Amino acid sequence: MRIDIVTLFPGMVEGPIAESILGKARERGLVDIRVVNLRDHATGKHRVTDDYQFGGGGGMVLKPEPLFAAVEALRTEEARVVLLDPRGRRFTQAIARELSAVGHLILLAGRYEGVDERVSAALADDELSIGDYVLTGGELPALVVTDAVARLIPGVLGDAEAAGRDSFASGLLEGPQYTRPEEFRGLRVPDVLLSGDHAKIARWRRVHAIWRTWRRRPELLETAALTPAEQKLVEEFRRGKGPDEVWTRSA
Ligand code: SAM
Repeated sequence: MRIDIVTLFPGMVEGPIAESILGKARERGLVDIRVVNLRDHATGKHRVTDDYQFGGGGGMVLKPEPLFAAVEALRTEEARVVLLDPRGRRFTQAIARELSAVGHLILLAGRYEGVDERVSAALADDELSIGDYVLTGGELPALVVTDAVARLIPGVLGDAEAAGRDSFASGLLEGPQYTRPEEFRGLRVPDVLLSGDHAKIARWRRVHAIWRTWRRRPELLETAALTPAEQKLVEEFRRGKGPDEVWTRSA
């Protein structure tokens, strides 16, 4: 897979990539991540990339020409061009999974007051927002998308199954996790996790994942694939029962 990130601030993007698992994945040839300086695709003596807004209003807007030139230089047949934009569709794990199957992503990071509308109208295949807030530029959003997508590429994570157990992978939040010591400041690791009984541990984890999702993000349960027994568990939670009261009965 190839991911091109087009930005006016390459250093903002290159650093986090080089310092992370993404850099290792790049070194190992699992994903080809390229940081592209938008200014290299601007023309004229001053390589101008932004200009005043028509109609007035403060702030500068990224010009269309350098972005079109960059994409036209980078595009391959399988490329999907994604503009990072707070008005785009909200980025989710499901979209990360969808994008991880695309052979080539070109991510366009906006800046200043935003990007000339013709980029959205005639260049981008998709517009993604990483949440309902406004950042100063699309570099962090492009990194968020790159990280979430790249870690789904086989081989990028050391533990091949880790991504499948994460929150949102099965439509639920992940349950509690513990490491050593077994007791810390009077707080003990639940006995079941030390029992060595893998079936029991899996059941405990599943019940706690459902419980945590029910407490924190109940709307996710509307689309999560729950068995009839698990749906009954949710009913018990609604009636005031806690996970440790019900989990042994959930087999
Ligand atoms: N004026 C724009 C608006 O109100 O929608 C905001 C522009 S923002 C200051 C500059 C750039 O940062 C955007 O073009 C986009 O690339 C990026 N950006 C900011 N917040 C974002 C978000 N939540 N998701 C994705 N990109 C974002």
